[in-house]
Amino acid sequence: MSNTLSKTALIVPLIQSTAGEMRACMSRASEAGADMVELRLDHLADLPDDADLKSLLENRPVPAIVTYRPIRQGGRFDGDESDRLEILTAAARLGADYIDVVLDVPPDNRPKGRTILSHHDFTGSPADLEEIVAELEASDADVCKIVFTANGPEDALTALAILRNATKPTISLAMGEAGLASRILAGKFGAFGTFASLSEGSESAPGQLTIEQMKNLYRWDSAGPATEVYGVIGCPVAHSMSPAIHNSAFAETGIDAVYVPLLIESGAENFNRFMEAVAPWTDIRGLSVTIPHKENAIARVGAEKTDELSRQIGAINTIAITPDGSFSGTNTDYAAAIDALCAAMGIGRDDLSGRKVAVIGAGGVARAIVAALAHHNAETTIYNRTFTRAEKLAEEFGAKACPLDKVAEISSEIIINCTSIGMHPNVNDTPISTGTLSRVKVVFDTIYNPIQTRLLREASDAGCLTVSGVDMFVNQAVAQFEFWTDKSAPRDLMREVVVRHLTGQQK
Ligand code: NAP
Repeated sequence: MSNTLSKTALIVPLIQSTAGEMRACMSRASEAGADMVELRLDHLADLPDDADLKSLLENRPVPAIVTYRPIRQGGRFDGDESDRLEILTAAARLGADYIDVVLDVPPDNRPKGRTILSHHDFTGSPADLEEIVAELEASDADVCKIVFTANGPEDALTALAILRNATKPTISLAMGEAGLASRILAGKFGAFGTFASLSEGSESAPGQLTIEQMKNLYRWDSAGPATEVYGVIGCPVAHSMSPAIHNSAFAETGIDAVYVPLLIESGAENFNRFMEAVAPWTDIRGLSVTIPHKENAIARVGAEKTDELSRQIGAINTIAITPDGSFSGTNTDYAAAIDALCAAMGIGRDDLSGRKVAVIGAGGVARAIVAALAHHNAETTIYNRTFTRAEKLAEEFGAKACPLDKVAEISSEIIINCTSIGMHPNVNDTPISTGTLSRVKVVFDTIYNPIQTRLLREASDAGCLTVSGVDMFVNQAVAQFEFWTDKSAPRDLMREVVVRHLTGQQK
């Protein structure tokens, strides 16, 4: 039952507290598509004996790594070191496909058997990373394993670079949410294996995705050396719908690509550090950019590498990267919003000219929409809680400004809500009273969660034409896909994924 896989193994760690539970989960892992399991003996409540080890190893449905990790390496075993090493020796004797031996055990004391020699750093990226990797490679271990903690997604690239340069079978991972790409892309870069939990809550390390997410969301089974990489930069990104939308679109259109989340803390220096690291990675072809990095993105890409409206907005949400490493960018938010509005009204963009539009809010989305409305000569009034922000935005784009408490006096044909009033979880809030809505023809709420906000519900009851933030969200994703691939995006499928996600049918 030793590992004869030619591809990267999807390894499910088992962290149950009894051998019986571990056996049951081993079968479930195999059914879920695991190529290998890792038996984390250090999670067992009692010291395992030969009978426990035999019961685990005899009926294993897939190859098994036996790990008995000490506390000093992020495990749970805090007993006698000689007991630990004896049990690993017994596991090798009883047929474990691999035993995991930590690097700090002196070579003469290391248990004999097919060995994964490992080093873990749960605090950050070790200053002597190169030396550690060299020591692992110079050993007589069958597999080298280096795992450290990511501060930013550039550390995921460091982990992947270790795989790219490896001279023997290697596992190299950056832990934590910022390191996710190293887990998802391990197969592309020919790792010996990557870890995925059996279900949410049974992770053995920070940032581990579930096997279901790896296979169904991140295209594990189809990724290979030629797979192109796309991603979304933001903070937070954990609940972004973009990976689900773009990975489904890539699968549907037969494009060999995978889209990953890239958590970058706020601050231009963090953004720029990642972009520096990306430059030599010719397989990274496109990035979505969300809060709080849209302004950092235009500054890094260079205004001259974007279009006129993006320059006026001063922010971009999409970056394309050519194989020679040059960047170009655009803002798909403004067209997404304007086209959602015009499609619902059955008009062209030019027909916005002279129409009275009330924009509520003066943040990033409002800015993109106000710029587009100005571009198409609409008569815009901006209402905002912080009046000075409304004034500033209005002055820049030739619009009028009003305090938010004057919103009841609106006399516009179209209202666009660009605030978060009414957004999940505050779904009972609304920025406009029903009395005001009866004087309006079209209400567009840029909020997409919930799909049907209180504002849209009441606008519909008042007889207004309504436009949902979902339409804008789908439009911006479609435009990104087309900007990157020059192919027509599967719009209906992308919408379906968004709606399924928002209605909770997709985990
Ligand atoms: P932002 O830059 O943070 O701006 C937030 C705006 O909402 C500001 O104008 C802020 O007013 C106002 N606001 C927030 N809480 C408020 C409250 N309790 N009362 C009154 N005003 C309040 O955010 P953004 O990026 O522009 O996003 C705004 C909305 O757009 C979000 O609700 C989001 O759901 C939606 N959005 C939609 C899409 C899409 O594709 N459909 C994409 C991105 C965002 P102050 O200036 O006074 O703080």
